[in-house]
Amino acid sequence: MKSRYDVLVIGGGPGGAVAAEKAAAEGLSVCLAEKRPAIGTPVRCAEGIGKEALKKFIDPDPCFISAEISRAAITAPDGESMILDSSKCGNKIGYVVERKIFDRELVRQAADSGADILLKTNAKAPVIENGFIKGAYLEGMADKISADVVIAADGVESRFSRMCGINTLVSPREMMSGAQYLLAGIDIEPDMNIFNVGNSVAPKGYLWVFPKGESIANVGVGIQGLKSGEGHRAKDYLDNFVRKKFPGGKIIEFITGGVPVCRPLPETAADGLMVVGDAARVVEPLTGGGIYNAMYTGELAAKVAVDSISGEDYSRDSLGKYDSLWRSSPMGKSLEQNYLMKEYFVTLSDEKLNRLIHSASKIALKDFSVIQLVKELVLRNPELIIELRSAGIFMN
Ligand SMILES: Cc1cc2nc3c(=O)[nH]c(=O)nc-3n(C[C@H](O)[C@H](O)[C@H](O)COP(=O)(O)OP(=O)(O)OC[C@H]3O[C@@H](n4cnc5c(N)ncnc54)[C@H](O)[C@@H]3O)c2cc1C
Repeated sequence: MKSRYDVLVIGGGPGGAVAAEKAAAEGLSVCLAEKRPAIGTPVRCAEGIGKEALKKFIDPDPCFISAEISRAAITAPDGESMILDSSKCGNKIGYVVERKIFDRELVRQAADSGADILLKTNAKAPVIENGFIKGAYLEGMADKISADVVIAADGVESRFSRMCGINTLVSPREMMSGAQYLLAGIDIEPDMNIFNVGNSVAPKGYLWVFPKGESIANVGVGIQGLKSGEGHRAKDYLDNFVRKKFPGGKIIEFITGGVPVCRPLPETAADGLMVVGDAARVVEPLTGGGIYNAMYTGELAAKVAVDSISGEDYSRDSLGKYDSLWRSSPMGKSLEQNYLMKEYFVTLSDEKLNRLIHSASKIALKDFSVIQLVKELVLRNPELIIELRSAGIFMN
């Protein structure tokens, strides 16, 4: 194992794996350090991702595809559902993956491209020289690795990013608190994701049922951190729902985790450093989906690392191109729009949610996106235009 690389990646989730793969594929020497002993576990995810989004980074393989999804239902507080039908945008719009294998395959792609992988290796502090991040002090399979560029892909906790001087703190109001069971032996539609909304089901969040096979699903809930407390934590809402809807279900896995549903960090580059994925707070604030955005920002960080290394310029000015690239991308722009949408939707009463969902029992979407859904709702509820505008949301 070498002690010096062009690029050191901290974290072996989707963001770090794609960053390491793309940088190594361009001929850079790359080391990826992951603190856990195995990639992809424990899973802290409902494992849903768009079909096209996934294909940009890895060929879909049955070894990590648990279910193909062609429909979604949004269920109102009173139990009525609106079905989102994908027939207009091509069926099979998404996947529910097996992250334990999916993440491992992404890291395998990085290894195949030439990246070195260190497991059970915690980046405990950055190496800082003249104000530049120049590597990390490690605990595990190496003590210290030096690098011209460090990519922090250290996920929601983002301790390493913070130690590099980036303020990654998220207020409890903007941290979704999640709990999920993998529930077997339940009666579900195996091609349909279900989103339940309402203040008694999931205050300022939602409860999901994402199938992973004929009679097995990720059943989870995310609630606003501020709404969580003794006797009304995410797990309490989950237990209530499971007792009512799936009393015979068998829990075969239980996970908890936080999802940052805030705006992205104001700065995601510094001298010698780029921050990607959850650590950069680029999760879709309305849905809590972050796998694609982590991979996408990982890819952009790798591209910028290649240019900076060839120009021997590791300054914030040079690496800052990464920050501008993702912010000006469709992904970056949708983050602001969806943040404002989330801020609007969390204010809605159960009565209003019922009214909106009752306004259409079935919507055939031209493209399976939040913006498309909101446009359809506006068509049926014109008063929404004024409310959305006053929330700062303007739609063409
Ligand atoms: C309950 C829940 C449900 C979710 N559901 C979905 C969903 O359905 N779809 C979706 O798209 N997203 C979902 N997400 C979000 C998704 O899981 C994340 O956005 C995604 O994993 C982010 O990838 P990442 O690479 O940035 O971070 P992570 O996947 O968190 O990877 C970070 C890695 O860095 C490692 N690490 C951290 N610190 C160090 C260190 N100091 N040294 C070495 N290694 C370190 C960690 O061990 C980890 O492996 C969900 C999240 C939760 C909590």
